[in-house]
Amino acid sequence: MDAAMGRRRVACATLGCKVNQYDSEQMLTLFRRAGYEVVDFDQPADVYIINTCTVTGRGAAKSRQLIRSAIRRAPFSVVAVTGCYTQTNPDEVAAIPGVNLIVGHRDRGRIVELCEEAMRRPEPIRAVNDVWLAREFDDIPLDSFSQGTRAVVKIQDGCNVFCTFCIIPYARGRPRSRDPESVYEEVERLAEKGYREVVLTGIHLGSYGQDAKGRFTLEEVVERVAAIPGIDRVRLSSLEPRHVSDRLLELMASNPKVCQHLHLSLQSGSETVLRRMKRRYTAAEYRARVERIRSLIPDVGLTTDVIVGFPGETEAEHRESLAFVREMGFSRIHVFPFSPRPGTPAAAMPDPVPRAVKEARTREMIALGEELQQAFHRRFLGQTLEVLAEEEAATDDGWLEGYTDNYIRVRLPGGDELKGTLIPVRLTGLTQDGMVGEMAGLPVGSRRLAGAVR
Ligand code: SF4
Repeated sequence: MDAAMGRRRVACATLGCKVNQYDSEQMLTLFRRAGYEVVDFDQPADVYIINTCTVTGRGAAKSRQLIRSAIRRAPFSVVAVTGCYTQTNPDEVAAIPGVNLIVGHRDRGRIVELCEEAMRRPEPIRAVNDVWLAREFDDIPLDSFSQGTRAVVKIQDGCNVFCTFCIIPYARGRPRSRDPESVYEEVERLAEKGYREVVLTGIHLGSYGQDAKGRFTLEEVVERVAAIPGIDRVRLSSLEPRHVSDRLLELMASNPKVCQHLHLSLQSGSETVLRRMKRRYTAAEYRARVERIRSLIPDVGLTTDVIVGFPGETEAEHRESLAFVREMGFSRIHVFPFSPRPGTPAAAMPDPVPRAVKEARTREMIALGEELQQAFHRRFLGQTLEVLAEEEAATDDGWLEGYTDNYIRVRLPGGDELKGTLIPVRLTGLTQDGMVGEMAGLPVGSRRLAGAVR
């Protein structure tokens, strides 16, 4: 408790994806409404929330580390653990001495009440219910977002695809879509607070609307959000190729506020590995969709995730995957060495790839990703693109960083006053993972620039 102010304090650490970031913001919104002050995780607080991840073994290990460090630092505060790792492995969380509260996804909305109960009760409280019984989107609208000029807006939760490597459906339950009116109201509030870019996100974003019997679609929501005054950019998080409709591509091609960037999770470029993963596309189908996307939007930034070392992955399959990735010309790749998640079919598959081989293949895929990224960036040297200036560069004073709409990270000289503005930037050089540039005009609104590559 902050004695001087008489206000309780809450701190939150978040692991994992954008959906988890949003869930943390929801919980902090509830704490603010209850009169709490939100402080950084390294500050003294009455309540520490650890919003965990379990998508890889590393995510789960990091979650345990953070829980232990909070308990060590603040033995008399409430340590509350929530998120996907809690949902799938509540017993492992409960076995960590000092955890006061374990909260699953379905009880996140009661987090303040549960924490206050934990302050009164000496024994740990467990509120973890079957997430498959959740039928509705858990709608706790945000008033603001803690970070930057780009706000994440969650519009979908859950997945029932059950790829063989993936623990997420067990952690998140069946697909649920958020009512569009709630999305628009939240984006209007965020726009009033000065956010200029929103990232529409979900666990399986492509299934947005499928549980709504045709009442609304992802494309409609994208179009309506882009029309909200003050919003200059709408970006989408991960989609599968089959969910990138021609209507969505038309919007990206014709509406300057809809970012020309798609994150299309590939996972493997090998047909046989994709089958073992039970992905719902073949490499040939993926290729066909990317060709269609590029024919309509030549400068699109295509980013992806790739898993390396899936059980039984032969050298030939790895080569096939590398060749496919090269052919797709991705602009950024997240490479994940396969990590067996207990309870998933892939964890029980025979023929694991030896660690050293997996590591060597991971390095090879990362190197290819870097090469493709540089090649993509080189195409834009000398061009002028709009950059949304988001933050000061970590290393240099007087420099800002931001992204183009096709997701090139750009550094440029500039001061605080430019943060949150869209700046025409002439791209003059390459950095290790982005580009540098200089202002080529005054900050502008959302129109695309004459003379730019698009
Ligand atoms: S589509 Fe596959 S990888 Fe994505 S969340 Fe669902 S099960 Fe996991």
